[in-house]
Amino acid sequence: LASRESRNDDTIIDVKGVKVGGDTFTLIAGPCSVENREQVLTTARGIKKCSAHMLRGGAFKPRTSPYSFQGLGEEGLKLLKEASEETGLPVVTEVMNPKDLDVVLKYADVLQIGARNIQNFSLLKLVGQTDKPVLLKRGMATTIQEFLMSAEYVMSEGNADVMLCERGIRTFETATRNTLDISAVPVLKKETHLPVLIDPSHAAGKRDYVPALSRAAIAAGADGLLIEVHYNPQIAVSDAAQQLTIEEFCQLVDELRKIGEVV
Ligand code: PEP
Ligand code: MN
Repeated sequence: LASRESRNDDTIIDVKGVKVGGDTFTLIAGPCSVENREQVLTTARGIKKCSAHMLRGGAFKPRTSPYSFQGLGEEGLKLLKEASEETGLPVVTEVMNPKDLDVVLKYADVLQIGARNIQNFSLLKLVGQTDKPVLLKRGMATTIQEFLMSAEYVMSEGNADVMLCERGIRTFETATRNTLDISAVPVLKKETHLPVLIDPSHAAGKRDYVPALSRAAIAAGADGLLIEVHYNPQIAVSDAAQQLTIEEFCQLVDELRKIGEVV
């Protein structure tokens, strides 16, 4: 269902009027974790000013250590919803556990499946039974063919609104958090009609590299970007080193606008 053979034109997903895929370029931005009301609202207002199309933020966080901040759960989802109602930006948020799907469905406009859950086939089937668009993040050790099979799991349950996101893979290189597999863009664009996004933030792991990787995403033909932005990254409780300030995000969008694509 995900393959080019099964469909001639590109899939265009409509998220409350925001288009993903086809000729549009979509900017999804927001904090790694939802931390508190001030943080989410300030960040959402900031990214909205700089023409972001959707707000991202995690209320259920897949942290490497069980002792790290795990997310605010439903309280975080409520804050995202409040920010969404004020700014008009649809909400992209991760569902980690099948038991949380019902509550996430109440607040999310796009269901994010994280890199660590990309081969959680029972979770993929469940989101495939919903009517919400799904954003799949490639696993850090998932081949492109395996990634496409994960999309197939969602689609085969009846949900055709799947967007794919390359967020860096594990290699021997340690200068960046992950290695952005920029080749995944042309390969996926050839293999599938689904929209292909790039997350330069989790690939880079450091904010300084985010602009260059964003430009590379556009040059390679990606359909959009998912970028972590925090109104004050210094106090971020997760992924502090890679989140852009609102000012940095606005600067980046201006720069991307000059090279086309972004409107
Ligand atoms: C995230 O988007 O905050 C996240 C946890 O990403 P990934 O699943 O790609 O690591
Ligand atoms: Mn993060």
